[in-house]
Amino acid sequence: MVGTEIPAQNGASTPQDRRFGTLAVHAGAPHDPTTGAVIAPISLSTTFAQTSVGNPVGLYEYTRSSNPNRDHFEQAIAALEHAKYALAFSSGSATTAVILQSLAAGSHVVSVSDVYGGTHRYFTKVASAHGVHVTFSPCIELDVEELIRPNETKLVWIESPSNPTLGLVDIEKIAAVAHRHGILVVVDNTFLSPYVQNPLDHGADIVVHSVTKYINGHSDVLMGVAAFSSDSLKERLGFLQNAIGAVPSPFDCWLAHRGLKTLHLRAREATTNATAVAKALEASPHVISVNYPGIDSHPHRAIAIKQHRQGMGGGMLSFRIKGGQEAAHLFCKHTKVFTLAESLGGVESLCEVPSSMTHAGIPKDQREAAGVFDDLVRMSCGVEDAEDLLADTLQALEKAVAATKVGNGTA
Ligand SMILES: *Cc1c(COP(=O)(O)O)cnc(C)c1O
Repeated sequence: MVGTEIPAQNGASTPQDRRFGTLAVHAGAPHDPTTGAVIAPISLSTTFAQTSVGNPVGLYEYTRSSNPNRDHFEQAIAALEHAKYALAFSSGSATTAVILQSLAAGSHVVSVSDVYGGTHRYFTKVASAHGVHVTFSPCIELDVEELIRPNETKLVWIESPSNPTLGLVDIEKIAAVAHRHGILVVVDNTFLSPYVQNPLDHGADIVVHSVTKYINGHSDVLMGVAAFSSDSLKERLGFLQNAIGAVPSPFDCWLAHRGLKTLHLRAREATTNATAVAKALEASPHVISVNYPGIDSHPHRAIAIKQHRQGMGGGMLSFRIKGGQEAAHLFCKHTKVFTLAESLGGVESLCEVPSSMTHAGIPKDQREAAGVFDDLVRMSCGVEDAEDLLADTLQALEKAVAATKVGNGTA
């Protein structure tokens, strides 16, 4: 593999201890050794010539097994997640599927209950068909020890922050218990990105991302990635990456790698914007409550300070609006900068009503037990100017609440 060597000059740091932004731009981004191209070409070829049987010209044979663009992207993610290895997949969901496929029939998994909907669907409707069973816990920090089944439990699955209520889990605490029993810990880090949180530093064994969200960041690629440092996981998951073949195209790898190079800039801006919006919502008479881990009112703020870069809250928040489901729907209808749409993590701001959209499949009583009320609005803050996002939020609140006639706390 061509290295990512940048000549160290004047006492410059070695590649290993470079900071996030420098790694985001340079890790896995070698200059083309033959043309000097600063940006790697997209290697669309599915097959690679061999000079004699079993002697390929370079490192590659067939694109499902590996290709230059996927290698580059995986190297960059490994560097940013403080991992030895990363493996890219065709979606976040394919990443989850491959990790679950790696477990033997009869295995048991303990998961936080408010996982991403597609993860919940895979756990309950697909993994069970292969003899892998999942127990969901609404308070995993308290009961993980009791839920572990000796010799059966192989994995603990955490999502922090959770979706859409932004609850946090103390990864170090869970990892200590899991590791005492020889169990691996997986953290879905999609909502924060490696810029804000590095789960492996807190004891997780595997970190997964829907690259579709913050890592690509431009709402134009569907992709996933897993990063870890264990050689045996590299062997097992790498085998399945090739054997199952749920791999991303070279073009998608190239696009996602391009997006990744500005992750630190986007994540900082999204945090600044979400913090401003969360504070304005908190001060509004039209709002019941705000879920944002970047402000002191968040019940798990101490975990954010411990686990997130500079206690940053990331770009996601949710809030309950006065006026019920009708007001929540109207709010999303009246925003002009925030687009009403599912998904998150792009440069453009989005909003949605989880109970009617992303979480509509969960029965109402279960939903409400997890804090997902009909009046909850989820917002993904992009990188527009904070003043415009604030003005948009406040005007949509006024319109939504006026229309449902519960303004100014008189309801
Ligand atoms: C979107 C998402 C996924 C699934 O990823 P896809 O790329 O859509 O398959 C998994 N986890 C979280 C937290 C997500 O937001």
